[in-house]
Amino acid sequence: MKCIKCGNRAIYHRAYSGEKLCNSCFCSSIVEKVKRTISKYNLLNHGDAIGVAVSGGKDSLTLLRILNELSKPHTSKIFAITIDEGISGYREEAIKICKNLTEELNIPHHVFSFKELYDLSLDEAIRLREGKVSACSICGILRRRALDMAAKELEVDVLATAHNLDDILQTFVINLLNGDINRIRWLDPVIKPRSEFFVRRVRPLMEIYEKEIVMYAFLNDTQFQTVTCPYMNEGIRSEIRSMINALEEEHPGIKYSTLNSAIRISQNIMTDEREIKMCKECNFPSSGDLCSVCKVLETIKRNIIYENHR
Ligand code: SF4
Ligand code: ZN
Repeated sequence: MKCIKCGNRAIYHRAYSGEKLCNSCFCSSIVEKVKRTISKYNLLNHGDAIGVAVSGGKDSLTLLRILNELSKPHTSKIFAITIDEGISGYREEAIKICKNLTEELNIPHHVFSFKELYDLSLDEAIRLREGKVSACSICGILRRRALDMAAKELEVDVLATAHNLDDILQTFVINLLNGDINRIRWLDPVIKPRSEFFVRRVRPLMEIYEKEIVMYAFLNDTQFQTVTCPYMNEGIRSEIRSMINALEEEHPGIKYSTLNSAIRISQNIMTDEREIKMCKECNFPSSGDLCSVCKVLETIKRNIIYENHR
């Protein structure tokens, strides 16, 4: 099998396009795709201070590597931001992996922890949660805010997260099944600093298949964390992932066309400007009197008081 670009030995067959690619042409094709996504949706501007959320997984480390390469001619400054949720036995290794790559690439690395920001680790929050609320939904609410606080403190212009095409499709289907139309709006390639976030958010890997990111990480010798989070299987996401993967197997390219539909739908959902308020507790943007972060913290801290008085 020969590479269709250079004739060297191909190592990868891209089923949705029919391309057969060698190691080097495959890696260049990924960087080119990211470049195209950035310019198609105008994700980054010349000279932007870019905060890159790095978790220690294959996606975020790949994003950091590619943005580091692409940002050089644009005099953009990059900051790597890691959120330490406080998941014992899991996050410690990830932070070490992030440190290694940021040192290799000479990128400043900042760690912000839930414990410092909220006086509460995720492990504690999970222990004290109420009802059926999943670990990932508490984690997601607190992490989105933590990233906003980090971005504000570091004064970055834009926050880049490593969501890939598969993540975005799964989120789209989950929100569709939950009837959560407002969150479908967040799939817009650029989330402007508006009701939900302070800093503009972009996802430069949004058009890259997850399996191609794994391949890119291996081919570039990127060490990433392979252990999964202990709370990972609580939500419906794993089932949706398997369903979408099975569809792609039978119909190569269906992920890509569904992504395009999801983006167009997200761009046609209007923001109700009346929804935007400031939370009376923390003064961050919110759709109600109390933002989702303060609601989560209020419930959990009430349970701490209750526990201490038993
Ligand atoms: Fe947080 Fe869920 Fe991800 Fe674990 S799997 S880090 S709980 S969002
Ligand atoms: Zn609040």
